[in-house]
Amino acid sequence: MDALFFLLLVIDLSNSGRLAQLALSGSNQAEVTQNIARGLELLGPAISLDTIVEVLLVGVGTLSGVQRLEVLCMFAVLSVLVNYVVFMTFYPACLSLIFDLSRSGVDMSVVREKAKGSLLLKSLTEEEQKANPVLQRVKLIMTTGLMAVHIYSRVAFSGSDYDAVDKTLTPTLSLNVSNNRTESGEIADIIIKWLTMSADHIVISIVLIALVVKFICFDNRDPLPDQLRQSGPVAIAAKASQTTPIDEEHVEQERDTEISPVARPLLFTIEDQSSVNASTQTDLLPLRHRLVGPTRPPRPIQECLDILNSTEEGSGPASLSDEEILSIVHAGGTHCPLHRIESVLNDPERGVRIRRMIISGRAKMPVGRLDVLPYEHFDYRKVLNACCENVLGYVPIPVGYAGPLLLDGETYYVPMATTEGALVASTNRGCKALSVRGVRSVVEDVGMTRAPCVRFPSVARAAEAKSWIENDENYRVVKTEFDSTSRFGRLKDCHIAMDGPQLYIRFVAITGDAMGMNMVSKGAEMALRRIQLQFPDMQIISLSGNFCCDKKPAAINWIKGRGKRVVTECTISAATLRSVLRTDAKTLVECNKLKNMGGSAMAGSIGGNNAHAANMVTAVFLATGQDPAQNVTSSNCSTAMECWAENSEDLYMTCTMPSLEVGTVGGGTGLPGQSACLEMLGVRGAHPTRPGDNAKKLAQIVCATVMAGELSLMAALVNSDLVKSHMRHNRSSIAVSSANNPLNVTVSSCSTIS
Ligand code: NAP
Repeated sequence: MDALFFLLLVIDLSNSGRLAQLALSGSNQAEVTQNIARGLELLGPAISLDTIVEVLLVGVGTLSGVQRLEVLCMFAVLSVLVNYVVFMTFYPACLSLIFDLSRSGVDMSVVREKAKGSLLLKSLTEEEQKANPVLQRVKLIMTTGLMAVHIYSRVAFSGSDYDAVDKTLTPTLSLNVSNNRTESGEIADIIIKWLTMSADHIVISIVLIALVVKFICFDNRDPLPDQLRQSGPVAIAAKASQTTPIDEEHVEQERDTEISPVARPLLFTIEDQSSVNASTQTDLLPLRHRLVGPTRPPRPIQECLDILNSTEEGSGPASLSDEEILSIVHAGGTHCPLHRIESVLNDPERGVRIRRMIISGRAKMPVGRLDVLPYEHFDYRKVLNACCENVLGYVPIPVGYAGPLLLDGETYYVPMATTEGALVASTNRGCKALSVRGVRSVVEDVGMTRAPCVRFPSVARAAEAKSWIENDENYRVVKTEFDSTSRFGRLKDCHIAMDGPQLYIRFVAITGDAMGMNMVSKGAEMALRRIQLQFPDMQIISLSGNFCCDKKPAAINWIKGRGKRVVTECTISAATLRSVLRTDAKTLVECNKLKNMGGSAMAGSIGGNNAHAANMVTAVFLATGQDPAQNVTSSNCSTAMECWAENSEDLYMTCTMPSLEVGTVGGGTGLPGQSACLEMLGVRGAHPTRPGDNAKKLAQIVCATVMAGELSLMAALVNSDLVKSHMRHNRSSIAVSSANNPLNVTVSSCSTIS
């Protein structure tokens, strides 16, 4: 009976509850097991120490000399040990087993919700909330007092070892006795008694020391960090990876340092949000953590400005802390405008880091939420003044490959950046079918276009200007002006449309290996100046008059072309159609006629006689650093299919793309990842001997990739296995897991049904 009573008393409900809570935070069995293991790792040391302390403390009773008390204490010690062994071995094993069994047929989230609502866990949470530093201080004072009493009664003034207990009850008497001794005699006595201590004294001393160590070093800490309690192994891993020696040092510094008034508004903006709950306090740590630099309070703004603008050694932005830079930015003015922070600091990555702090606060994002947007390890010098402004980081997009693709006798592995599952796999299947016999292609450098809108006082004057430009001799004058702006841009044509007194002059120029929009804009501006010399009454309305036509659907690009015009062709044998695509030529031809021709005509489509050219165009554009918005015009494509000959079961297929706007120099093509993808295709940068050949080759590869994607999707459509493949490739369990989709809403993602 006694044993049972003590066992119930010492069962560690609080820690058992914490471990169960942590296990519940796992979204699958693997996470549950990992969480339990990590929980034991974290709780283990503190619980072990608790157990030692309890055993020693209660064990003192076994030395009391009172028989009944000794028996009770013995049971209590055994109970403590049993509880410890069970908690460290049997309990976690059972916990894991129970979750594993309950998982089959039961939704983990439901179990989690039920457990959250349970009385036990609720009471544990409340208990945890009640724990406060005042209580810990009281414990500490009580321990010190207890220690003093024990030393006073059991060691210093006891006549013999076994008198200790009695002396505790009569300290006054002991004191009187001791008063009769000389001071030196007392000290000698105490030393002798310490040296001749018996077993119970040693035990008591150890217990008291252990108690002090426990309360000072362990009790003020929550063995289970909040972050860990809230999330699964991802957070655990993140936590583990963050705990570098440097980080610990920073955290220590941050604890000691008050957040300055400069950073405070940022934090409070975030704290004020209704969406931010109690966990905000722990969330604040990452922001403090990111404030890099000396931990001293920020210097006055004027002093910071002087340091910023000084060219003396030891001055400049590098000697200012992040907080001081923040205060300069907040102060406004021209010293460090937010949009120029990288160049002012002469440290792009630091500039981006500080901008992120400011913007995440202004955008009222919970602190740390922007951390998942990467920004480190990126060559921002290649981005600034070239690709992007107000940079906050970069968005990684997965890059796959389709291939081998046999095109004009050469084999290519085509990089494709996409988040649409099934796209790369499907294109890859098309490559397989096309590469049996190989794709042939022709390419024409149609030229990049820019069409300013100019206005004349009258229709007659506009007509006069039109015929002046179209005159061969005058055209040559204009061309000379245009060509003077670039080593590679060469005016090829001037196509003029008249609308009332307005002229839309569509300058067409070849642009070497560059896509050429900047180049042709520059040339057009110069050419207009020359025309204006002849017609001073010409008013330039806009350098771009939408007759170009850039990044907007327009028939003119479909009809007259823009950039590169590419046509690819291929015959696919009946055997390949059967084995790779599980279809035949007749079925494909029929579907192509009714869908890509008839259906698109019904829709009034211009340039859209295809199944999903934009998919392949955009994926290759993203991977190779093309201007993604130019997928509008570049995706113009006519996919044609015929039976190869009257009695043949082979398929003859062509793809015609009249307006592919691509380049291998300029824009995003110079960024490291994108240029690696161009390298993969053997078309990185400028062609060494024939400017323009790399861009043309890239256009041919894009068109052949489009053809592969077209063929594969058409086969999937006629086989009705499109939805099946999307379910397999496009709906990852992660993407639709309850963690990301808490409402468990079904996600539809069959976007490739084009
Ligand atoms: P760009 O980077 O502005 O110009 C290409 C540069 O590369 C030129 O300085 C050119 O020399 C040089 N270059 C060296 N070798 C070359 C070679 N073999 N072939 C061609 N050029 C070579 O590139 P862009 O294609 O003209 O413009 C692309 C950028 O414009 C993209 O970022 C795009 O997003 C953007 N864009 C602009 C507009 C617009 O309206 N301005 C519209 C859409 C897109 P030279 O100096 O001798 O020419």
